[in-house]
Amino acid sequence: LAFSSCRLPEKLLQNMETAGYVMPTPVQMQAIPAALDGQSLLVSADTGSGKTASFLIPIISLCAKFRQNNFSNPRKPLAVVLTPTRELGIQVEDQAKVLGKGLPFKTALVVGGDPIARQLYRVQQGVELIIGTPGRLIDLLTKQDIELDDVKIFGLDEVDCMLQRGFQDQVMQIFTALSQPQLLMYSATISQDVEKIASCMASDIITVSI
Ligand code: AMP
Repeated sequence: LAFSSCRLPEKLLQNMETAGYVMPTPVQMQAIPAALDGQSLLVSADTGSGKTASFLIPIISLCAKFRQNNFSNPRKPLAVVLTPTRELGIQVEDQAKVLGKGLPFKTALVVGGDPIARQLYRVQQGVELIIGTPGRLIDLLTKQDIELDDVKIFGLDEVDCMLQRGFQDQVMQIFTALSQPQLLMYSATISQDVEKIASCMASDIITVSI
């Protein structure tokens, strides 16, 4: 598989090239075509495998298509990615900005430790992707007006870590606010608990292991 055969937006391919992505990594070879097809995935992948780009590339591609064709309300986000920690959220957003440069693709980071008002303001300006930790996103969902009913893709990074931190109920609460999104779920280890939450959210989810 070559990136150029994936029918990605030209600008996205350029950004990938600028970032030095020449060949897809093994996890990208498996996950990107399936995700572009709309398949829900449970992927076992470690840090360093290229996992972040393997969910960001399909997310950016979908957002660009929806916005360019005016299929969607530009004030409502089209994708949510949950991370277990603020630090991982920052890393995901940094990579999203590099890959989404010049495309109709804006991001908001919704994590603890920064003023909530500023994060909410950013969300309400209209973004394509919200990246957040479960606790802070629930705060915004319950206290404020944030509309997630247009969300098409729900990404979950390091799910095993989220479960270890006791975020299971919060993750499910966020999932309930979405309308049957495509799932892109990543975990270093696929435990029974991880499989359980995955099949609970999508009965047709496919497991990808490298
Ligand atoms: P991750 O596994 O998501 O933490 O990514 C590890 C690093 O690999 C990041 O710095 C990415 O920018 C980089 N990366 C991701 N995909 C590729 C690729 N196809 N070619 C070269 N570098 C990549």
